[in-house]
Amino acid sequence: MTSYPARVVVDLAAIRDNVRSLASHARTAQVMAVVKADAYGHGLVPAARAAVQGGATWLGTAQVHEALDLRAAGLRTRILTWLYGPDAPLDALLEAEIDVSVAAPWALTAVHAAARRTGRTARIHLKVDTGLGRNGLTPGQLPGLLDAALAARAEGAVEVVGVWSHFAFADEPTHPTVLAQAGVFRDLVALVESRGVTLEVRHLANSAATLTNPAVHLDLVRPGLAVYGLSPVPQLGGPEVFGLRPAMTVEVGLATVKPVGVGQGVSYGHAYTTTSDTMLGVVPMGYADGIPRHASGALDHPGAPVQVGGRRLTVAGRVCMDQFVLDLGPGAREVAGDRVELFGSGADGAPTAEDWARAAGTISYEIVTRMAPRLPRTYLNEDPA
Ligand SMILES: *Cc1c(COP(=O)(O)O)cnc(C)c1O
Repeated sequence: MTSYPARVVVDLAAIRDNVRSLASHARTAQVMAVVKADAYGHGLVPAARAAVQGGATWLGTAQVHEALDLRAAGLRTRILTWLYGPDAPLDALLEAEIDVSVAAPWALTAVHAAARRTGRTARIHLKVDTGLGRNGLTPGQLPGLLDAALAARAEGAVEVVGVWSHFAFADEPTHPTVLAQAGVFRDLVALVESRGVTLEVRHLANSAATLTNPAVHLDLVRPGLAVYGLSPVPQLGGPEVFGLRPAMTVEVGLATVKPVGVGQGVSYGHAYTTTSDTMLGVVPMGYADGIPRHASGALDHPGAPVQVGGRRLTVAGRVCMDQFVLDLGPGAREVAGDRVELFGSGADGAPTAEDWARAAGTISYEIVTRMAPRLPRTYLNEDPA
């Protein structure tokens, strides 16, 4: 038991259903559930298990320790991990039968050496930069790297199972770079195949491309955000439009409720001032818990929304390290311990992570992933029906 006043509640049935829904959007492809960043804050292992129960045949992590954690928890699904430096535990990854991305020439050298040391055949996915301008082999680097990969393959040290890339504007499906990147990808895949490589999986689509661009589903789609039931394209529609529902609810009990007079400045800097005699409620969550300080509210600039006793209120004044304040209104009946919902499924009229993102000038990805590790996670529907 924990006495922590706040908690993150994760509905694993929502994750299962969201993966099923994504699989039906991409009927010709397998689904890799991206569970990086502690499954976008939802909890790595429980979320990964639910995603597999929902039909994901692959799991993806950026950080290699998360891939190892998935294996250590007993998940036998194919796993791809992609963001590591020269000191990465490649031997352990190969022993754990985790597929690794190769995004730079040094990485192939390192993976090849690990394969020799362990006697394992490394399953590699060549990451190509088709225009994002982030990680990945440039089209200019690919031919030389392919020579080295084929030499390692001839030794039995590596198997080139995938070629993959990532979009710069997947969330703007008609942006000209989307078509351009898909074209570059097609050409680079053709180059690899022309060298006698039979690829198991060509993959390009994140959540937004999975939901909006069937032409790029290829063999495998890699949704992250949508697995957790949030819309990657809020300008085109909320989760319900895509058959998704948010899995995460954040809730907390009020620490204190007290009466104050009109004209009372609230929290540091008095950014908010009461406009009547009223009741203030102190919420024991702050930026150390992942509440964005940009969610603060002033009289001319409402803060992020919450739901208390069926009413929608907004953060009053500055968010502090461990707490923020609500103006509950004159005559409010709440007492210490009463439940405040920050965001959730939206089904009960409460705000969503997307509402918080809009209020704080960010994206829902950042809202869910920043919920602090110190917040206890509680899981609903752990057993599949
Ligand atoms: C995070 C990530 C994804 C998933 O992106 P979403 O927009 O959350 O679906 C897919 N591929 C790569 C390479 C990523 O880094």
